[in-house]
Amino acid sequence: MNNQFKAIVINNTDDKYTASVQTLNNSELPNLPVKLDVLYSTLNYKDGLAITGKGPVVRSFPMVPGIDLVGKVTDSDSSEFAIDQLVLLNGFGVGEKYWGGLAQQAAVNGDWLLPLPTSLTPKQAMQIGTAGYTAMLSIIALEKQGITPDSGDILVTGANGGVGSFAVYLLNLLGFTVVAATGRVDQSEHLKQLGASEVIDRNELSNPGKPLAKERFAAAIDSVGSHTLANICASLKYGGVVTACGLAQGMDFPASVAPFILRGISLIGIDSVMRPKVDRIQAWQRLGELVEQSYLDKISTEINLDQVINAADELMAGNIRGRVVVNCQ
Ligand code: NDP
Repeated sequence: MNNQFKAIVINNTDDKYTASVQTLNNSELPNLPVKLDVLYSTLNYKDGLAITGKGPVVRSFPMVPGIDLVGKVTDSDSSEFAIDQLVLLNGFGVGEKYWGGLAQQAAVNGDWLLPLPTSLTPKQAMQIGTAGYTAMLSIIALEKQGITPDSGDILVTGANGGVGSFAVYLLNLLGFTVVAATGRVDQSEHLKQLGASEVIDRNELSNPGKPLAKERFAAAIDSVGSHTLANICASLKYGGVVTACGLAQGMDFPASVAPFILRGISLIGIDSVMRPKVDRIQAWQRLGELVEQSYLDKISTEINLDQVINAADELMAGNIRGRVVVNCQ
């Protein structure tokens, strides 16, 4: 551990919101029990909002963004984590309330950490990141409700997004038949290569619809919310299940109880941020078993800390497809 380290620092003084690359002393790290050299982090949509100030993500200043990280322990008051151990962190308000992963060093609570699964390298874990981990949590939720490849078609919305594209890929690996809904139908070929059997235009789902529609999908993974989620509920088959993790279309949910009380459907909420450890371990274990290097290389690009602020602007402008991995060393 060096005495000084590089970090992205967000400030908000005199109503001026800034993000810059700074060199800090490690005496400035938060007073938390586990110190890390950060090896890799990522640039998620939430990090883009934090860095550009386009969304109210950061709760205190100065803040180091970065909701995901993989690091090597350099100092530990926690009996669970030893020096030199590789660890993984997603969420828990890191990069929002607590200093996060877009830095060469971090100080965190032991409770937030998982040992990095032995089946994944630090870079692979960040190529997956919160997007892949949330997709896996969503699939496990469907499985817990009894959904199997024999149940029928599984709809994935926001299919070209981070969560959606991982969901398409993982569901296909697990033998499910996937219908992908996207606004970028011109990229249908890409979604078919990921594993979608059919690609539909997201406009079919994004406008106000009827309380009950034709029974079409056995289950769905939705990261879009609003009318899309309401229309999914209306078009699930009897006993169908939908998971909801996002609000890319909107936070509203203009649905009726009809499909719940007439078709016995279920709506399962997915939160990755405060998820209990046992679920995190299960999801990361499954990801380590399933995900292939060739896929990760196809969907991700690597940048360094000096390139993060520019990349955040590009991300918010919609100019980046796939995952951005940040090499922090
Ligand atoms: P991305 O920005 O990568 O993907 C979102 C996708 O949603 C887009 O690529 C687009 O897909 C689709 N979309 C965008 N705008 C609209 C719209 N107006 N109507 C319908 N579809 C739209 O984000 P992520 O995949 O990383 O995250 C998706 C959502 O999930 C976000 O709301 C995020 O905050 C949330 N999230 C929640 C987590 C949790 O713990 N609950 C964890 C991770 C993410 P296409 O181009 O294919 O149409």
